[in-house]
Amino acid sequence: MSAWTTEERDDIVKRLQQKGVSRPCPRCGSDQFNLVDGFAVFGLVDRLEDEGVRHLMPSVCVACSRCGFLTFHALGALGLLNKDQPLPPGDAEKPE
Ligand SMILES: [Zn+2]
Repeated sequence: MSAWTTEERDDIVKRLQQKGVSRPCPRCGSDQFNLVDGFAVFGLVDRLEDEGVRHLMPSVCVACSRCGFLTFHALGALGLLNKDQPLPPGDAEKPE
């Protein structure tokens, strides 16, 4: 996985701060977090029996430094969906 640049990391952290993401960890109360390098991508289906993924939702992941509790923030809410970004591997949605 390619590492984000310092500028990319700073931009994401700034966007999280602007959204008020500043509360302590809901599990252990720690106030120390790490931005995990790389996008987490959730595959959405209409029904559980569906074999194909209908839509991909990319997010960034923040990990509690003490207990490892993970939180995910959708890129759209952070204003990052229209910026240049690597496509998730195996993206099933191809232009027609
Ligand atoms: Zn924690």
